[in-house]
Amino acid sequence: MTPDRDTQPPSPVECSEALLRVFEYLDGEMGLEDQAKVRAHLDQCAECFRQYDLDQMVKLVVKRSCAEVQAPVRLRSTILTRLTLIQIESTD
Ligand SMILES: [Zn+2]
Repeated sequence: MTPDRDTQPPSPVECSEALLRVFEYLDGEMGLEDQAKVRAHLDQCAECFRQYDLDQMVKLVVKRSCAEVQAPVRLRSTILTRLTLIQIESTD
């Protein structure tokens, strides 16, 4: 951490690493120290922060669509139950 390092833009390696870890960060699978590192990079780097924003949005959409999966699952079991009933009836 030299003073002149702060004036330089983040290197692509740092950015790609930060972006790779954003997923871990969002999943909460990260240690507190690493979390702080990614957070610090996101605070400094507008490019990565935009990507982080996007990832967060994707996560929200995925979460929402996962919640909606409940309905088709229930529907499928209803259909399966009906199919079973039809099979039982047809064996008579
Ligand atoms: Zn970056």
